[in-house]
Parts: sequence; structure tokens; C-alpha cells
Amino acid sequence: MNEETNLQTGTETTITYDMLLATVLPCPFCGQKPKYEYGYVPAYIELMCINEYCHVQPSLIIDVKCTPWDETKTTFKPEFEQHYKELRDKWNRRF
Ligand SMILES: [Zn+2]
Repeated sequence: MNEETNLQTGTETTITYDMLLATVLPCPFCGQKPKYEYGYVPAYIELMCINEYCHVQPSLIIDVKCTPWDETKTTFKPEFEQHYKELRDKWNRRF
């Protein structure tokens, strides 16, 4: 996938996994860094507070777009990295 740059804001539309972890804000309710999770059926990525002493333990799940591996369209590849920025920005906006 191509990495586009939004000229108006100067911000990238895709970010790396390392950038996601480096720029995600702590849980707004307890101040701990959220945990990153992902899954395949259905494909999703998630940020969640796993602090057992947090009263809210918020989690945020984003559906991940999948693209077929080939023309048979029987196998799919989830585009996790295409959604890192969306996940981080939503979490950082505090819902
Ligand atoms: Zn928390």
C-alpha cells in the first residue's frame, strides 16, 4: 500500500506499529498505557485499558478492511496497518 501524505494538515494517513505505540495517549481514566490487540475472524484491531484497578477499563475496536490474496477471493489478508492511525486518533480524541 502507498503511504499518502495529507497536504492540508501535513499528517500521514498511515503510521507504523511503532508509531502507534509511541504516540497513543494513556487511558483517560487511570493514566496507564493501553494494550494493543488484534484478531482475524472478523478482522479487528483494538486498544484497551487492562489496568485491573481502573474503574472504566475502556476499549476501542476498529474493523479492519481485508483484501483478497488472489483472484479466487477465497483467502484474505487483513490490512491491520492501514487502520493504525484511525485507531490511535479515535483513542486520542477521547471517544
Ligand atoms: Zn484505565
